[in-house]
Amino acid sequence: MPTSESGQGPGRPARFAVVDPATGETFDEAPDQQPEELDAVVDRAHRAWHGWRADPVVRTTALRVAADAVEAAGDDLARLLTREQGKPLTESYAEVARTAARLRYFADLAPRTRQIVDGRPVRSEIRWRPLGPVAAIVPWNFPLQLAAAKFAPALAAGNTVVIKPSPFTPLATRLLGSVLAAVLPEDVLTVVTGREPLGARLASHPGIRHVTFTGSVSTGRAVAEAAAASLARVTLELGGNDAAVLLDDVDVDRIADRLFWAAFRNCGQVCMAIKRLYAPARLHAEVVEALAQRAKTVAVGPGLNPETRLGPVNNAPQLARIERVTQQALADGARAAAGGRRQDGPGYFFAPTILTDVPPSSPVVSGEQFGPVLPVLPYRSLDEAVDAANGTGFGLGGSVWGTDLDRAEAVAERLECGTAWVNHHAELSLAQPFAGVKDSGVGVAGGPWGLYGNLRPFVVHRPQEA
Ligand code: NAD
Repeated sequence: MPTSESGQGPGRPARFAVVDPATGETFDEAPDQQPEELDAVVDRAHRAWHGWRADPVVRTTALRVAADAVEAAGDDLARLLTREQGKPLTESYAEVARTAARLRYFADLAPRTRQIVDGRPVRSEIRWRPLGPVAAIVPWNFPLQLAAAKFAPALAAGNTVVIKPSPFTPLATRLLGSVLAAVLPEDVLTVVTGREPLGARLASHPGIRHVTFTGSVSTGRAVAEAAAASLARVTLELGGNDAAVLLDDVDVDRIADRLFWAAFRNCGQVCMAIKRLYAPARLHAEVVEALAQRAKTVAVGPGLNPETRLGPVNNAPQLARIERVTQQALADGARAAAGGRRQDGPGYFFAPTILTDVPPSSPVVSGEQFGPVLPVLPYRSLDEAVDAANGTGFGLGGSVWGTDLDRAEAVAERLECGTAWVNHHAELSLAQPFAGVKDSGVGVAGGPWGLYGNLRPFVVHRPQEA
């Protein structure tokens, strides 16, 4: 958590420091809102709900206008996002584009009224009603698009939303909030920033009817407990430890770039990054070499530098965690075929790392490293690889890579996760459901499922004849 405080004094609200991960230095501040302030925020969100829920046509138009406004503010949003998050500017632009795309997608999605036909002389109709104010709590890896993944379906469904970004990345979300506030009715969407226990208080607030959270498994459990106080609906999109299984007919040269980027995009800080790679023993050395060569030559640097392909890790605690799990793996007998340590100089840079000879029990394999470090493990039989892929508490995504697509798909079907890819990883459509299994999540986001996740059924039942 950011810790430094400044600007406190009579008449001036508390603020906290926001650090540029490319330098490790504070470059701005954000309001350190206190839990007590949430009562007024949620109360205003509740009052705004009555108007917002009334007319779906008005909502569709407003959300389309909102998407245009996000695009118009694209330069400012992208630069600020890179500054506080660290990712290369091109990726920030892509994140802004996905934020606008989500607004457009959900603007045009409406729930379906259905009749129940079961032979009784009645007319039963299922209609859909919004829930009320929704709390959206999001992490620092994709601040804008993950916020949009929550507020776009929630708003389209007729709810109002209070967003709480991570204190590591509050600024781009605040800017997004003001861009949207300028085109949406007052208090339909509010951004609150601050340090804990702000999120805990929001999750347990009695005026919140749906808590939709993206973050780590441990915080997800705390959020579920907090929301139990008001029995609000809970949607949790949690951590992942996705495995990629290479089959023995794979063409290593052909897939090496795709594999590398599926593990290292956004500096590995992607819930659905490849976090463990299983290669047939015969191909293991070739795979390690192909990935190590890419790890050693990829351009690492500040996200604002146009040459950069990999930025810094987002924050100091995360960097310390990555150092810790890597050191532990090396102490457990692993070898770094590339990287293996923090880069010299300022900023939170960690050299892209390929690990080999890693014991499966080492935390970099059994847990979620969430950084630019990839263990490559050899396997002897396919059953052994599938068992290992399924052998953690996580179940977000997974992938299988090979030339025979039918065979690869048959192996992919054996993965215990929400989404399995063949020869891809983390390719997502706005129209598909997004749901982790095991510790990776509760509830379904994405596509129409994400819309219904923000609605409740309302059944009207009447006789057919008077
Ligand atoms: P985190 O759990 O530490 O924090 C997430 C959010 O929760 C932040 O806004 C944080 O301030 C807030 N928070 C912290 N304590 C809280 C509490 N007690 N009550 C309510 N809110 C609280 O996660 P992080 O380090 O910001 O993000 C990394 C994690 O997010 C990784 O585990 C990653 O896999 C996961 N993630 C999952 C998905 C997904 O869709 N499944 C997507 C992106 C990231």
